[in-house]
Amino acid sequence: MTKPLIIITGASSGIGAAIAKSFSAAGHPLLLLARRVEQMEALGLPNTLCRGVDVTDRDQLIAAVKEAEDKFGPADAIVNNAGCMLLGDLSVQDPSEWDRMIDLNVKGVLNGIHAVLPGMKARKGGSIINVSSIAGRKTFPAHAAYCGTKFAVHAISENLREEVAADNVRVMTIAPGAVQTELLSHTTSQDIIDGYEQWKKEMGGVLDPQNVADTVLFVYQQPQNVNIREVLLAATGQP
Ligand code: NDP
Repeated sequence: MTKPLIIITGASSGIGAAIAKSFSAAGHPLLLLARRVEQMEALGLPNTLCRGVDVTDRDQLIAAVKEAEDKFGPADAIVNNAGCMLLGDLSVQDPSEWDRMIDLNVKGVLNGIHAVLPGMKARKGGSIINVSSIAGRKTFPAHAAYCGTKFAVHAISENLREEVAADNVRVMTIAPGAVQTELLSHTTSQDIIDGYEQWKKEMGGVLDPQNVADTVLFVYQQPQNVNIREVLLAATGQP
């Protein structure tokens, strides 16, 4: 039987690339979205459309979803994974960094939801899987703006879950602890980067992106009447 289309944002590196490989191995056609299209194409996945879309641009996102649905049929899930983490104390952080995180981590998720929800409601089925963070459940030093965006992802997801439960649309939030990816490299303070790297060593290592991909695939593969609303996973040694 042909498997349905899955959309994954932020699939050019880290967790998103691992999620893409896992869903492809499970036989799904994919729409992969991020700005670095060549990195998504380099994954070499079959039945996969890679589009250089900035998910803060709602029109670009909607156009790519339409193109993929015309080719592969309706999307059964979107994994809203694209995000950035720009750590800093609010007293010194450049406000443009808050703007970037709010635009991507919050509005990017809302844009992804907006692009697929009318179709899922009309078809009475689908899954929206939002990648948040442990920083969406507890706070950490120099994380105020990032935590704000990730707490928002939890709130949006839970409220949306209530809104669309009767339409048979599942909404799930995946909240990882620290994972070995490019994410930290975008923070501009070298002191914060050094402190974070030290913290990772002290806890004895972090998750691999594949650990998160396995979790996303697991929640998706449950029967449609089972909604694993939230998963918080972290390295065993993470406090
Ligand atoms: P990466 O930096 O490796 O991946 C981020 C992805 O987001 C990239 O594919 C990037 O692609 C994409 N992206 C960034 N900006 C945009 C944009 N404007 N439009 C479209 N795509 C964009 O980090 P991770 O894999 O770690 O991060 C994935 C998610 O996991 C994020 O939401 C992050 O907050 C979350 N997370 C990560 C943790 C960690 O410790 N690594 C822990 C908890 C949660 P491109 O640059 O090509 O656009």
